[in-house]
Amino acid sequence: MPQDLKQYDQAFLGHPKPLKGLFFTELWERFSYYGIRPLLILYMAAMVANGGLGLDRPSASAIVGLFAGSMYLMTVFGGWLADQWLGQEKSVWYGSMIIALGHLSIALTAVFDQFFFYFGLVLIVIGSGLFKTCISVIVGTLYQAQDSRRDAGFSLFYMGINLGSLAAPLITGLLIKDFGWHIGFGIGGFGMLLSLVIFRLITVPQLTTFNHLQGNDATWNKPVYRNKNAPKAALCFLGITAVMIALVSLGIIQINPFALVKYLTAFICIGIVAYFAYLLLFAQLNSLEKKKIGVCFILLLAAALFWSAFEQKPTAFNLFAQDFTDRNIFGYEVPAVWFQSINPILIVIFAPMTAWLWVKLAKSNRDPSYISKFCIALLLAAAGFILMMLASMQVLHSGSNVSPLWLIGTLLLLTLGELCLSPIGLSTMTKLAPTILRGQVMGLWFTASALGNLMASLVGGQVSADEIQHLPELFLRCVIALMIGAIILWLLRKPIHKLLNQAETADSTQTQAKNPIPAQADTL
Ligand code: GLU
Ligand code: ASP
Repeated sequence: MPQDLKQYDQAFLGHPKPLKGLFFTELWERFSYYGIRPLLILYMAAMVANGGLGLDRPSASAIVGLFAGSMYLMTVFGGWLADQWLGQEKSVWYGSMIIALGHLSIALTAVFDQFFFYFGLVLIVIGSGLFKTCISVIVGTLYQAQDSRRDAGFSLFYMGINLGSLAAPLITGLLIKDFGWHIGFGIGGFGMLLSLVIFRLITVPQLTTFNHLQGNDATWNKPVYRNKNAPKAALCFLGITAVMIALVSLGIIQINPFALVKYLTAFICIGIVAYFAYLLLFAQLNSLEKKKIGVCFILLLAAALFWSAFEQKPTAFNLFAQDFTDRNIFGYEVPAVWFQSINPILIVIFAPMTAWLWVKLAKSNRDPSYISKFCIALLLAAAGFILMMLASMQVLHSGSNVSPLWLIGTLLLLTLGELCLSPIGLSTMTKLAPTILRGQVMGLWFTASALGNLMASLVGGQVSADEIQHLPELFLRCVIALMIGAIILWLLRKPIHKLLNQAETADSTQTQAKNPIPAQADTL
């Protein structure tokens, strides 16, 4: 490897230099997202007299679920548009602008009516759909298929995400206390503007230089395949969205958020199955690619289960922190949203350790497979929910607020689980997905988060003083579901490895027969 390229390839903590630009671009985008997300339920459920919208908790929680769920669902469409029309770079660029406009619209609620609040949420959903998939796909392009730094690279990238989500609630929590909701929302917009500038001025030039040094054709700035129907699909989507917004805001269509969550969940489940069936039957994949896509499907189901527990953080845990947790520290009442920063703080502490651990274990070939890591994640989440169950039993019996250590313990276990699942999932998707489908498969990966957020929001709204007697049972059901998921995945572990190994061997024998120069096999 020429010296310049070698240096550039290891310039950011042993990783390619563009990872630095991508790290900071994503940090500020996530700052904006996690800055406003925990405020949503508190703002919507707060009394009108306190500057809130006065919604009942189940509806407020369902709207948070719909917001986060549709945001992740949009990533499928965003990924598709990037693959077929825009390319990754333009998708990130346009996506950031739309998100920034969304924040502006929410900030306008300070002077105009509620319409701008909901409209802003819709813009953030659309923009994030374009942004979120593509930024992760670009990270994947920095590594060759057999590069053992890939998982560690994604763990680093994940730290950037979490630095953003760590800082945001700390700042917004303070600001809303003294200056009201809208300043809290506005600060998210500021983060998004920074992200946009960093991407254009730092990340894109770094990516260009990297490709130039590699002498490779850049793959992040053009579509994999130019589909002339893609712009029409985008226009159609925007048209339908605009009509829906008009109908809802004129009161012609009434929305019941709680029911909508259920319909959307069912729709996504059917959609995921149909999409995978389409990929398997009509995407003209070879047998190895089909098996890899099948594995993606199983991992996606496990991830959906994990996120449906984890994503109770901005709703159930947020309300639990507000209503049932003793938040007094030396006479100072800690804002409830500060609890949202615990998970990212723990990620920042533990992500480097896990990244290091995976690399170290990989060197001696003892790195657990991604399926084992997913099983561990589900078990850790189950343990976290056992703590939540015990905490709510204590609230019930003592009738008073409980120690913050319960929530902190739960968040610690969920965080360790997250580290075994989320960065690994991102990395595995970029590894398993056939190049032509990489944006779409990454989008599909995020549908797991969409499902998780939707299902979690159904639980979230039930955290209230008049429902407290049901909480232990509710959390117990989460524990049982997570345990069952872990067991099934554990049982599937061996057959999956066997299947993939067989398929890989057959594939490389075929390739060698056609082409005597050995092909580079994917490391699984
Ligand atoms: N918390 C991570 C993020 O915001 C992962 C979320 C997810 O995949 O659901 O990027
Ligand atoms: N840990 C989450 C993620 O990595 C961040 C959060 O939920 O605050 O983005």
